[in-house]
Formats: sequence, C-alpha cells, structure tokens
Amino acid sequence: MIEVSHLTKRYGAHLAVSDLSFNIEDGQIYGFLGPNGAGKSTTMNIMTGCLAASSGEVRIDGHDIFEESGAAKRLLGYLPEQPPLYMDRTPREYLTFVGHAKGLSRAQLAEQMERVMTVTQIGDVADRLIKNLSKGYRQRVGLACALLGDPPVIILDEPTAVLTPQETEKLFRVLRKMRDDGKAIIIITHKMHEVESLSDRVAVLRAGKYIGSMMTKDTNVTE
Ligand code: ADP
Ligand code: MG
Repeated sequence: MIEVSHLTKRYGAHLAVSDLSFNIEDGQIYGFLGPNGAGKSTTMNIMTGCLAASSGEVRIDGHDIFEESGAAKRLLGYLPEQPPLYMDRTPREYLTFVGHAKGLSRAQLAEQMERVMTVTQIGDVADRLIKNLSKGYRQRVGLACALLGDPPVIILDEPTAVLTPQETEKLFRVLRKMRDDGKAIIIITHKMHEVESLSDRVAVLRAGKYIGSMMTKDTNVTE
C-alpha cells in the first residue's frame, strides 16, 4: 500500500531523515518507535505530502505523493502531532469543513459524520466550541477528521501523548477494529509498551536512520 524509498530530509545542514526505505501493507498495525528528534514526525509529514523531501520517493497505492498528490492523499487519514483545529468552531462545524475539503458529497458527509463521531465518541461534545474541550477530546476530534472519507491508511503521530490510560485503551480498540477491517495503520510513539501491546510490526528509528524492525505478537524473530 505504501512504498517509501531512499527518503532523505535535510533541514539546512541537519540530516533529519537519512536514506529511509520501508513498505507498509494492508491489514497491519505498524508502530514507529524512536526517541525525540529521531525523525518520526518528519517522515510522516513527508509521507502525507505535508512536507517536501530532499530526495527519495513515496508512493501510496502506486501514486507518487507529490506528482499525484490528489489521488495519493485521498487514501490517507493523518492525525498530526498537533492537529490543526479551529478553536472557535464546534467539532460538527469543523468536521463539515474537513469533509468538504476532502470532496465528500452532502449525503456522504451526513453518513460519515455520524460514523466517525460514534467511533471516536465525540457525539456528546459535537456542538461545543473546540476551545472548551479537554485535550483528550480535541485529540479525538482530530482523529475523527482523519477518519472522514474512510481512507484505507491511517497515520497517527503520538496520538496517546494527551490521552489517559482509559482513553488510550479505547483508541487501541478502535485501531484494532480498523486493522481487522483491512486498513493499514501507522502509529508513532516513544512508549515501548504501547507498540508492544498494539503493533503487528515495529520499526525503530534513531537519528533519522532505520535501525531495525521486529515482529511482535506470536514471534520474536528479529528481521
Ligand atoms: P521526532 O518526531 O522523531 O521527535 P522530528 O521529525 O520532529 O523528530 O525531528 C527530527 C529532527 O529534525 C530533530 O533534530 C528536529 O530538531 C529537526 N527538525 C524538525 N523540524 C524542523 C524544522 N522545521 N527545521 C529545522 N529542524 C527541524
Ligand atoms: Mg514527533
């Protein structure tokens, strides 16, 4: 579903991502693990077309993220580390805005709005101003936006950073269900126990370099 080849990103003289290559398949949850500054967010921002690479290539279901960005981005739902929410809007208004931006019809939007609000359990705050919501609720509004349009790939950058353990467990249940429905899920975290409990595959980044992967679940083989 996703092919990343020889991705490199420089910020001036600083090499944030160095010759990174990996593939992401459907029906799997990938945990991206690594310390702060490892290049995880930079990699995801490039993969989702939010940031240009210095070199290398990203293809989403065969579509180059920069050459065919419309077709590629339609396949992605992205929850960035800091979701860009409009504080003076309600979740319902904001989701409507995002749904239009994603090209959903009125009927699609109505159907999807119900679905994503149910999945993320934000129905009870749908008509409150986002600025009055807790961090956990704001995060769930961001997740609801990512799920609009029912994209086959979901990318989440440190989604649990502002969640309570109970909210984290709920989120993980949602992600496992989406994985079982055939989606590819990428979740960034620097918490080892989270990737262990959730991920089918784990990639470890350090200083912009891929330093290995490991299978979790019923095998402990190191690739
Ligand atoms: P992670 O998400 O793994 O914590 P980042 O991708 O945010 O790491 O950052 C990787 C490296 O690139 C860090 O050293 C960070 O300071 C640097 N960096 C990130 N964004 C910028 C930017 N816009 N300008 C300059 N350096 C940046
Ligand atoms: Mg980050």
